[in-house]
This record gives sequence, structure tokens and C-alpha cells, in this order.
Amino acid sequence: MTRVIFLGPPGAGKGTQAKTLANDCNIPHISTGDILRQALTDQTPLGAKAQSFMDKGELVPDQLVEEMVQERLSLTDTNSGWILDGFPRTVNQAVFLEELLHKLNQHGEKVVNLEVPDEIVIARLLERGRKDDTEEVIRRRLEVYRSETAPLIDFYHSRHQLLCVNGNQSLEEVSAELKKVIAS
Ligand code: AMP
Repeated sequence: MTRVIFLGPPGAGKGTQAKTLANDCNIPHISTGDILRQALTDQTPLGAKAQSFMDKGELVPDQLVEEMVQERLSLTDTNSGWILDGFPRTVNQAVFLEELLHKLNQHGEKVVNLEVPDEIVIARLLERGRKDDTEEVIRRRLEVYRSETAPLIDFYHSRHQLLCVNGNQSLEEVSAELKKVIAS
């Protein structure tokens, strides 16, 4: 059973690694960013509420994202495991997730922190060229990461759940290290 939460700054390569791992393990890759972007495209009520936050590089309010994740983790395809990418992003969300997993009787989740130096992260984000990857928005997303999301490293470390992977290597090297760390 593989249940993995991915942490790491924007641009650390979480999406790519999470997708590959989910594929290899044949389990769903659950990216809150992807779900939100789909909601924007489909112009759903959720998309309408999330848009202004996403455009500025701010976090969408906890409650909106938490409801979304609760719904997604309650689908039956998560019985065989999952990879969470982009959630939790705040300590509130992490506490919510802990309680949710308990309620859903899903245990043994591992938390991986993909470590990448700042200057590499910025270069990678500028290269990616997504609609919300302008320099100003990137700068804001990094600030938000530092103030809201980086505290999760301590949160999971103190729970003895944190595993670290060096994200500043080739895709293949990161994948290999990731597999090793998860299997240990
Ligand atoms: P990502 O694709 O993970 O970089 O997410 C893109 C954007 O979606 C972020 O900049 C946030 O505005 C929003 N978002 C994604 N996940 C979350 C989350 N867990 N909490 C709040 N906002 C989120």
C-alpha cells in the first residue's frame, strides 16, 4: 500500500515525480492544483471562487481545498493508495488531513520533502511558462510557500513521518532516490 504526501517548493518537480510514481504504483495522482485548474477551465462554482487567488499566487482558502480533497479521497479508487501533490499547503490543512485519514481508516502515509535550492526553483518556474508563472506571481508563490507551507516540514518531522529526497538531480536520479526512500 503506497500513500505518499509530497512536500517541496513550487518548481521542485513534485508534479512530475508524483505522476511517475503514481503511474508505476498504479494508484491515483491527486494534485489539488490540477483539480483547481480543471475547475477554472470548466467554469464551475469552485473555479469561480478559486480564480482570483490562483491568479495572484495566493492560496485558495483552506475550506474550499479541504472539501475538494475530502471528496476525492472518499472515492473508491483510493483504496489501493494515492499520491497527494500540492496538499497540504498549510498547517491547518495538515491537521485536517490527519483527521480525515483517520476517519477514512487510511493509515501509513509517508511524507516526502523534495529539497531544491531557491535559485534552481526560480529558474525552473520561469522556464515552465504556465499561465500563473509570471515573475511577480512566482515571487509571491515562493513567499507564500515560505510562510505557510515550509512549517509543514517541522510538523511532519516532529511526527517522525518526514523523508527527504534531493530534488536537485536528474529526473531519473530523483525517481530512483524516491523509490528507495519510500520502500525503506
Ligand atoms: P500548484 O499546481 O500545486 O502549484 O497549485 C496552483 C495554485 O493552486 C496555487 O498557487 C494555489 O493558488 C492553488 N492551490 C493548489 N493547492 C492548494 C492548497 N492545498 N491550498 C491552497 N491553494 C492551493
